[in-house]
Amino acid sequence: MTAVARPPVVDIQSVGKVYAQGDVVFEALKGVSVQIGQGELVALMGPSGSGKTTLMQIIGLLDRPSSGAYHLAGRDVTTLSENERAEARNEDIGFVFQAFHLLPRLNLLENVEVPLTYAGVPPRERRERALAVLERVGLADKARNLPSQISGGQKQRVAVARALAGRPRLLLADEPTGNLDTRTGEEVMALFGDLHAEGTTVVIVTHEDDIGAYAERVIRVRDGRIESDRRQVPKVAHRPPAIGSAP
Ligand code: ADP
Ligand code: MG
Repeated sequence: MTAVARPPVVDIQSVGKVYAQGDVVFEALKGVSVQIGQGELVALMGPSGSGKTTLMQIIGLLDRPSSGAYHLAGRDVTTLSENERAEARNEDIGFVFQAFHLLPRLNLLENVEVPLTYAGVPPRERRERALAVLERVGLADKARNLPSQISGGQKQRVAVARALAGRPRLLLADEPTGNLDTRTGEEVMALFGDLHAEGTTVVIVTHEDDIGAYAERVIRVRDGRIESDRRQVPKVAHRPPAIGSAP
């Protein structure tokens, strides 16, 4: 039998990013090369201003590199038009941000359905998929609640469910525990750990060492360059006895 090697999910070669503001030019990324394979759980770390969000936005097709090459799952995405990039983003990438960005007037189920509506998924399938991912994050019993009726940790789990509903190839999270206390942050990391165990490729941007400890690979960025790229034995998240059933 011949094993067919799958291309890395993320393959970035010598990527640079220059921000120009008037006469001032700022090099936020200075020739970054990185490959992330299918199923990896990676923490992208570094001090504030080091370029983590810039790199994540390039990986997530929210921004374009000024130089260098990017292949997403083997496809050259640097030459795509804006529309093609938006399409690739909707199909391949799920985002989780520090602020949960839930719509306050929609219940949790409807919140999870929003991106599926944009993606043109028919109503019935939309509902089924949204319920399945809410169940996956332990919140099916709260599907009809409003965001104001749940805790911060639960909101972030809804945001993860919303990102998963589109069945992305790659889940990107920028400081996902930044608005959460330590214990709740740990619950969210337990969820990312489970998704990783099921084969999801996850990249988490964080400046917190406690959060980076849950990853199996830590890439450190400093002044727009990769400072180190190491594998480690990940910390196993403490699991509360009944995740999702607390009031
Ligand atoms: P991090 O996420 O590690 O804190 P960022 O990627 O957000 O860092 O920013 C890296 C550097 O690039 C910072 O010095 C920031 O001020 C600068 N930068 C980020 N976005 C822009 C922009 N749109 N215009 C100008 N400079 C920017
Ligand atoms: Mg940032």
